[in-house]
Amino acid sequence: MASRFDGQLRWLHKVRLYPTCAQERALVTMLRVTRELYNGLLQQRRDAWTTRRVSLPSREQYAQLTELREAEPRFAAVYRECQDAVLHRLDLAFAAFFRRVKHGETPGFPRFKPAARWNQLEFPHGDRALKFDTVQRRVRAPGVGSIRLRKGRVVPEFGRAFLVTKNGRWYAVFEGHRLTSPLPATGCRVGIDRGIRVLAALSDGTTIENLRPGSRRRAVVERHQRALDAVTVKDAIGRPLNAKDPARIAAVRRLARAKEREANARRDWLHKVSREIVRRFDRIALEALRLRSMTRSAKGTSEVPGVGVRAKAGLNRALLDAGFGILATLIREKAEYAARTVIEVDARYSSQTCAACGCVCKESREGPCFTCVRCGHAADADVNAAQIILLRAESPPKSAPGTARGRQHDAA
Ligand SMILES: [Zn+2]
Repeated sequence: MASRFDGQLRWLHKVRLYPTCAQERALVTMLRVTRELYNGLLQQRRDAWTTRRVSLPSREQYAQLTELREAEPRFAAVYRECQDAVLHRLDLAFAAFFRRVKHGETPGFPRFKPAARWNQLEFPHGDRALKFDTVQRRVRAPGVGSIRLRKGRVVPEFGRAFLVTKNGRWYAVFEGHRLTSPLPATGCRVGIDRGIRVLAALSDGTTIENLRPGSRRRAVVERHQRALDAVTVKDAIGRPLNAKDPARIAAVRRLARAKEREANARRDWLHKVSREIVRRFDRIALEALRLRSMTRSAKGTSEVPGVGVRAKAGLNRALLDAGFGILATLIREKAEYAARTVIEVDARYSSQTCAACGCVCKESREGPCFTCVRCGHAADADVNAAQIILLRAESPPKSAPGTARGRQHDAA
């Protein structure tokens, strides 16, 4: 489908909102009504599926929604397009469900949304629902009124928009498009691999640390965690008995905010690192993520560390892995915007392969050091792996060095 945004990149602009108490109540009501709608429509579809084995067409529910709005004032009070978006969201959930059924999988049925997992209002045509004042200090939302905005960069033309709440704060997210803005060529190329003890290593010998784990923010998080533990009364298997206690709710929120700030600091750091990498290099080689995740099963995933992996080591590893995942995503995004080339590489055995002679041997790797058992090449293990990533990106895939050279020889 052709659109006016062809050849442009999707981007999101997030702005903090400062609703008054009355406005916040209106927003919370809208969340409650849309969630109720989602769960109600889902119930209908579940019933249709379990009793009659039919999938309820969404146009039928669309018509019912119109009737519901006429009958129930609290539904009529919520902007119609937000409700249409709820129906669309349900359609997407069911489309994914039936696609997996068709492929012979046994997916879980789309689930009811608890309040904790329902935190945004979607405006599919945000530009006609949300109106800025001329200086973009306030935005008018249907059914809420004119909400004060954080003063910041000017929001350009947008289409879809969301009002989102997180840890007691509200944000508006505007979805727009922008043209790529190519950076001047530098003639430099780089391979990047996830490190063993550092966040990432570059083939030019640089290593990138994760944001220092012993930082002040970490201490704040731990303090709030202890404060939460102190006000929590637990039953025999560790579930909190006083979940509704206002003191505990406040402690939960303080801990969530401290964690959010820590995550923001780390993300900010990753933005800076990725921006610098994209500025410096024209061609960037990264591991293809799907390939790595298949070979990592023995050690478990970040959520479920494998047997025998020490809890603390597993946690550090998980933090580094999550950090590298975000870094790689940011590099891909910024590279696309700057018209840089990203090459996806099969990273298997990159940590055991010698960058000097190509010998693959497990014994070459010893902790942070790499010493080739064949040629004696010695290097930082992470940097060596990053160099392998770069070598693989620059040479034809799936061919050993010998055969590639042989074929070139034949041609000449
Ligand atoms: Zn070697």
